[in-house]
Amino acid sequence: HPPDVVKTFRYHCDSEFLLWPLEEMLTTKETYGLIVVGRKEAAVGYVRGNKIEVIREFTSGIHGKHRAGGQSQRRYERLIEEAEKRFYRRISEVINDLFLEMEDLKGIFIGGPGPSKEKFVDDESLDYRLREKIMGVIDLGYGGAEGIRALLERVQDKIENVKYIQEKQIMQKFMKELSNETGMVQYGLEEVQNALNLGAVDTLIISEDLDLYEINIKCENCGHNESRIVKEVEIEDMESKIQEAMCPECGSNSFGIEKTLPLIEALGELASNRGTEIELISSETEEGEMLRSTFGGIVATLRFKVSY
Ligand SMILES: [Zn+2]
Repeated sequence: HPPDVVKTFRYHCDSEFLLWPLEEMLTTKETYGLIVVGRKEAAVGYVRGNKIEVIREFTSGIHGKHRAGGQSQRRYERLIEEAEKRFYRRISEVINDLFLEMEDLKGIFIGGPGPSKEKFVDDESLDYRLREKIMGVIDLGYGGAEGIRALLERVQDKIENVKYIQEKQIMQKFMKELSNETGMVQYGLEEVQNALNLGAVDTLIISEDLDLYEINIKCENCGHNESRIVKEVEIEDMESKIQEAMCPECGSNSFGIEKTLPLIEALGELASNRGTEIELISSETEEGEMLRSTFGGIVATLRFKVSY
């Protein structure tokens, strides 16, 4: 499923949504690897934004405990141990191939019932670059593919925290530039739009809770166009005003609305044409709340200074 923010767009602009790869730009790119290892089965998956996928499942072929005693029991245990090692290595090989290729892999969580997951980690057959990304080893009631969802449920908070920490860092970087008066930041809708048009914006930082829409108006007679920025509750009023208005350029009454779209989308279109990064920031952190309330929900860090 696309994230909520895209769903919201769909409700509001039923005619012309997603004209540009908005979804791709605005969905979270961060990926977390999910590995569930049990004695009998294992599964590998990942979560990216709201999408969870199980990529591979494995069975070990190891059966229940042998009941004989003495010599034969010890020999049996050794064989089992070796079979387990081969199982861990088989899983690791696949994971190494899959996860080392994965862009934006932020972290890995490992879960499962019993001691197999710890043994799997201790076996060290997982590539060291992936081992460095292990963010937690968690005890679960389920193994295999079923365990993937259970694992995600258990680590959701940690993933959210990473998201919040990143959001905080993005805003802190902006605040630092601002307080040092480096001239490498911009805020306020008009200022940011100007900088975007000049191709000066490195990162466009927008509050997820930005409640603004852009109404594009065009005169069919002379081609004159302009736009208005309004809050959601003001859209209807503004649209009927525009329908009644005459073109300020030629006086014709064929002055009408071309399209109404969320400002995030309008800015996103501008940004994508300039190779600008977009960061959507929630209001869950103090910094995110400051972005929304103090800075009107839109700020930018710059590639170069702009002057007017
Ligand atoms: Zn006109």
